[in-house]
Amino acid sequence: MEFWFTEKQTKDFGITMRVKKIHHSEKTEFQQLDMVETDEFGNMLLLDGMVMTTEKDEFVYHEMVAHVPLFTHPNPENVLVVGGGDGGVIREILKHPEVKKATLVDIDGKVIEYSKKYLPSIAGKLDDPRVEVKVDDGFMHIAQSENEYDVIMVDSTEPVGPAVNLFTKGFYEGIAKALKEDGLFVAQTDNPWFQQDLIRNAYKDVKETFPVTRLYTASIPTYPSGLWTFTMGSKKHDPLEVTEDRFHEIDTKYFTPEIHRAAFVLPKFVKDLTE
Ligand code: SAM
Repeated sequence: MEFWFTEKQTKDFGITMRVKKIHHSEKTEFQQLDMVETDEFGNMLLLDGMVMTTEKDEFVYHEMVAHVPLFTHPNPENVLVVGGGDGGVIREILKHPEVKKATLVDIDGKVIEYSKKYLPSIAGKLDDPRVEVKVDDGFMHIAQSENEYDVIMVDSTEPVGPAVNLFTKGFYEGIAKALKEDGLFVAQTDNPWFQQDLIRNAYKDVKETFPVTRLYTASIPTYPSGLWTFTMGSKKHDPLEVTEDRFHEIDTKYFTPEIHRAAFVLPKFVKDLTE
């Protein structure tokens, strides 16, 4: 008997994976949490039936959401992650010696608990002395922050359920307030095949809030459509102007200085979403 998990990426299209074992399944206070073992991608975290991260391809997303902003900022000492309870972005942030403190604010402590248990290669750095983990609503944390962070990364679920407020102009304005005068942020902004309005609206809201706004992409096989976007808003520093000497040695499997530059070169149908 074979078991397959299918994520419906639209009402008419999905991806399907053979499942070896269900490690844990529960309805938390905020979402349905499933941790499964798959034949192709290893252990996989699902929230509300959506693939969040897998042992095999997680490095792409976590490297691209972390290293692009951290190399763009000349001295990122104080960093905030909104969401990110699987710990992958924190693991990447800690590869930057300039970072003195990384704060993670995830609304659901169960994600942190079960990521530590079943995704040790991803969540293994959450107990690092430079890291502070808070279980709280990222929207409220941002609302209570002012002139505090050099870099903020919004590593949230899709704009449904607890994350719905994290894709609003008010949230981006709150981020601008929470950032220092030359701070910058990046948010994951879904895929350009099935979520064009989300990308268009997010880019427009960020552009109305920050003097520098950029969209970049990465290839992530287990995310809807396989092509993912990230939207950056910056008060001063432009990711396209990072000089060669800024890129210190770093242990990665996807990110390189060349990828940093190439990620901002957009296919026409994606670039059109920023016009
Ligand atoms: N990389 C994934 C993606 O791009 O969809 C996101 C992974 S991460 C596990 C998503 C996290 O966002 C979840 O742990 C969820 O609990 C968290 N989250 C959702 N809404 C939130 C909120 N309002 N404040 C803080 N964390 C939130």
